[in-house]
Amino acid sequence: MNAVPAGTATRREAEVADDVVVVVNGDGGAGLSNSVLLLGNPTTVIDTMLLPDMAADIVTALTRRGRAAELVVNTHIHTDHIGGNRLFDGVPVVAHPRTASGMRRMIGEPGLPALLAKVMPDFAERLADWDSVPADPLPPVDIERALPAGTRVLEFTDAHSAADLALWLPASRVLVAGDLCFAGVTPLAVHGRVSRWRAALDRLIALGPDVVVPGHGSPAGIGALRELADYFDRVLAAAHLAHTEQLTAQAVWARFDAGPAAGWLEPGRTLVNIQVALAEIAGKPFEGEHRVQQDQDPSHSR
Ligand SMILES: [Zn+2]
Repeated sequence: MNAVPAGTATRREAEVADDVVVVVNGDGGAGLSNSVLLLGNPTTVIDTMLLPDMAADIVTALTRRGRAAELVVNTHIHTDHIGGNRLFDGVPVVAHPRTASGMRRMIGEPGLPALLAKVMPDFAERLADWDSVPADPLPPVDIERALPAGTRVLEFTDAHSAADLALWLPASRVLVAGDLCFAGVTPLAVHGRVSRWRAALDRLIALGPDVVVPGHGSPAGIGALRELADYFDRVLAAAHLAHTEQLTAQAVWARFDAGPAAGWLEPGRTLVNIQVALAEIAGKPFEGEHRVQQDQDPSHSR
């Protein structure tokens, strides 16, 4: 395999329905998240990738269609979904209130670039001055009203992150899942709870989407949600085994059967996911090295 230099990963466009274009960001590995364009009224951009030069491809995709963004929605707080916000100067950028308040705390935090460099080493140099613009808080019901007619907004808390939004387009049966779905890439539950993410997947599967747009990886079908659910069942089973047999997360990881996830990118994340699940089962907060972006809302204390 030829290594692609960091940041030069190819982005391509996929039209998954009449008015829905996905800008697919490389192979969906660490730091490479997708954006979605809703070509309705208003013209809407869902997520803005990690870096402004990546997000420039979103603007290009719009311009080529004679469009300009009129609304930007960040599905959740993670830097690889918000890093291009400043390209949309003068355009309302909105997010779930928990996401927006977390962004205000996180952006500009002194320790952030070092942490990002650790989690996304391919981009380490370019993350040294990583910066973004926080979204304005808007309740999901109001985000739904602001989106093109017929778009439904689904809210999930403490699943993948403190708050995640998914968009459901019933007319075209397209689900824009954000990071509630990864396709061909191992997910990372470090800022959420494995059990709640697993439950969120049941809710998404019940919609019966024909097209699932993942936060990372290529657009897929409902099978991507089912495979991820299967993967998390295996993670939860491994964590339960560790808990009852007094084994370490490393020990159960060493003999983990990844099932559908065998061959997915970023396989090392499974150890973290087992650690997160084990902490949940033990009723303790997860104290991993990636543990930042704590939600300080006391009603959601862990
Ligand atoms: Zn994420």
